[in-house]
Amino acid sequence: MITPRAAARAARLPAGELPAYLYDLAALDEHAREIRAALPERVELYYAAKANPAPELLRTLAPHVTGYEVSSGGELAHVRAAVPGLPLAFGGPGKTEEELRAALRLGVERFHVESEHELRLLAALAAEQPGDAPADLLLRVNLPVGEGELGGAALAMGGRPGPFGLDPRRAEACLPLLRGGRLRLRGVHAHLASGLDATALLAVAGRVTGWARAFADRHGLALSEVNAGGGMAVDYARPHARFDWTAYGKGMADLAAAHPGLTLRIEPGRALTAHCGWYVTEVLDLKHSHGEAFAVLRGGTHHLRTPAAKAHDQPFTVLPVDTWERPWPRPAALDEPVTLSGQLCTPKDTLARRVPVAELRVGDRVAFAMAGAYAWNISHHDFLMHPAPSFHYLS
Ligand SMILES: *Cc1c(COP(=O)(O)O)cnc(C)c1O
Repeated sequence: MITPRAAARAARLPAGELPAYLYDLAALDEHAREIRAALPERVELYYAAKANPAPELLRTLAPHVTGYEVSSGGELAHVRAAVPGLPLAFGGPGKTEEELRAALRLGVERFHVESEHELRLLAALAAEQPGDAPADLLLRVNLPVGEGELGGAALAMGGRPGPFGLDPRRAEACLPLLRGGRLRLRGVHAHLASGLDATALLAVAGRVTGWARAFADRHGLALSEVNAGGGMAVDYARPHARFDWTAYGKGMADLAAAHPGLTLRIEPGRALTAHCGWYVTEVLDLKHSHGEAFAVLRGGTHHLRTPAAKAHDQPFTVLPVDTWERPWPRPAALDEPVTLSGQLCTPKDTLARRVPVAELRVGDRVAFAMAGAYAWNISHHDFLMHPAPSFHYLS
């Protein structure tokens, strides 16, 4: 659950540097290499930067990815500066005029267009730009998915009414907007859910590709790309488990073979980076309240909001610290379930609930795993004005 490199650093960190985020960049490099190797050549791998946009992670991924998916003007500028020269796909709902102008100026490789209005806006702005290079785009479609297909998804963003992408019945209405302008339709994008296993995601990729092919054939369009999105599951209840990239790669190879000439693309976020990060802190207080043990940690969900946002127990490892210099007995939980909470004055500041531990004492360190994605960057850092954690990138 914690790599030896990260565990050694977590134990050595001076107390003044806790809480700390540790990232094992060597483990990330290895993980990304394995994922790339499991995918067929015709599948391009993009990293969804919103999962964790730390420049150190973006750069570690660079040798293994074709490009990055960015979902705001902020991410666009940040990723361009961190890994210059690598292709960017600009997606996300509610793109502003300023963001679209910046993306046209920077020359992003792909626009993922979310609506007819956005397509009109992009066409108008592209027409104002000097030069004659077309803006390449994919239409993001919110495709209906089969009954139960997204059943296991932790976070469904499509296949039902929602703000993401185009209703497929409106895709046709977009075609006249593409004529004669400075826009070039390359294909279709769909990101329908996060938290799916390989079988479910292959079904989704097959459905998206089939829909794109039929749409292109119906209208005599040249279809060259399908982006099947991200959403490869990470399982917080099974921190040792990994998404089955081998099975997924085999399925994608079959899909590629059935559609010669088509470039397939995926854009995972969490499945690339979740496992390479840990949030390390220490037990400040430990008490029993109405028969249950509570450990209060330095830090909390203002640094690691993931367990509060997803209502799960963040998996953790206890790193015992044996020195105790106070003249009074050391508060401890022994062989019992403990609830791990933070320093915020709210019951929502809980990182793990009633998890059995052999021993947990004031002063012991705790390393929360799977904190490499949607962790620090989704947290409400300023609530209660506690200090920020320190950050350590291990290579
Ligand atoms: C968030 C997002 C992703 C990445 O999702 P993960 O669950 O982190 O793999 C990919 N594409 C789009 C459009 C997204 O919004």
